[in-house]
Amino acid sequence: MLLFTPGPTPVLEDIRSEMAKPTIHHRTPEFEEYFAKARLGLKMILKMPEVLMLASSGSGAMEACIRTFCTKKLLSVNSGKFGERFGKIAKAYNIPNVEIKHNWDTPARMEEILDLIKKDENIDAVAIQVCESAGGLRHPVEEISEAIKSFNPEIFVIADGITAMGVEDIDTRYIDVLIGGSQKAFMLPPGMSIIGLSQKAIEMIEARDIGFYFNLKTELKNQVANTTAWTAPTTIIIGLVKYFEIVESMGGIEKIYEQTKKRALATQNALKSIGLKIYPKIPAIAMSTVIDELNASAIAKILKNDFDVNVAGGQDHLKTSIFRINHMGIIPLNEALWVVNAIELALDKLGVRKFNGCANIAFLESYYA
Ligand SMILES: *Cc1c(COP(=O)(O)O)cnc(C)c1O
Repeated sequence: MLLFTPGPTPVLEDIRSEMAKPTIHHRTPEFEEYFAKARLGLKMILKMPEVLMLASSGSGAMEACIRTFCTKKLLSVNSGKFGERFGKIAKAYNIPNVEIKHNWDTPARMEEILDLIKKDENIDAVAIQVCESAGGLRHPVEEISEAIKSFNPEIFVIADGITAMGVEDIDTRYIDVLIGGSQKAFMLPPGMSIIGLSQKAIEMIEARDIGFYFNLKTELKNQVANTTAWTAPTTIIIGLVKYFEIVESMGGIEKIYEQTKKRALATQNALKSIGLKIYPKIPAIAMSTVIDELNASAIAKILKNDFDVNVAGGQDHLKTSIFRINHMGIIPLNEALWVVNAIELALDKLGVRKFNGCANIAFLESYYA
């Protein structure tokens, strides 16, 4: 079965065998060496001065960041399930929250965010996804963060980059906090979250001592010394170091960004060539989302049962009307090509459109253009 869901992504054979080696203790020089390499690799990818790794799924880091970086009022962007989650976290901790709510196909606009922070001086943090995975859209985070910082550099910009980190070169110059997760573009098992930090975020962490397990001050103090406050997710960190080695051997992360983008565009061109509609107004690179109220569920089912391809359906009101195809990670071209081929075959089975290999052609013409 080809796993083409936008998280978890498949774990590469080389990473799996690395992680299958006998477990080592986390309070040892051997593990500290792995940890130092993982820190270095992440800082290079994020282009941020500091990074933390936590034993939790991505939502754990989202929670830790809202609690640590918002002291008065949170402005969060809700264009889908993950943006909504920021608001739910604020609510759980009684943090006042204003929300910008959009359809799941619609990215936030810089102007509406500026309007709100100009009107309400209590807003001291803005939380937004880079890629909102519910509908697969890309928010203009770079433009938004730059505008926020030029209006008031004291406002924290918290970006959930879980489906953008390792996918594309995010401009982090105006972002204070960038959240990532092991199970997306790094092609690792679920269980570790990542937080990239700006200088301002580091200072805030030092000044603020909040929470227990997710106390970022405790973590920072330990992690700069290449250890963790609690038992580290050692296996995943060892896998991450292997991931960086693989990326290096392929010519560096820029090569991965370039290939991912080409694959995403080729997939979208292939889908359009067989009459399918891309859902978000601005698609992210991490995934392609197709909207088809009539057939989305049936297509996904045929892909799985007849063609060994596992794509993701939708959530909530979009449960049966969309399906999402992953582009994150290091994906063999022949697999990506098989996916669009299988979708075209599924449309034939459903009697929607006669198969003529058009998706394959459009994919290859786009990829090798
Ligand atoms: C996957 C994902 C998360 C993390 O969810 P967890 O299940 O807690 O790992 C958060 N934000 C986005 C945009 C995601 O795609």
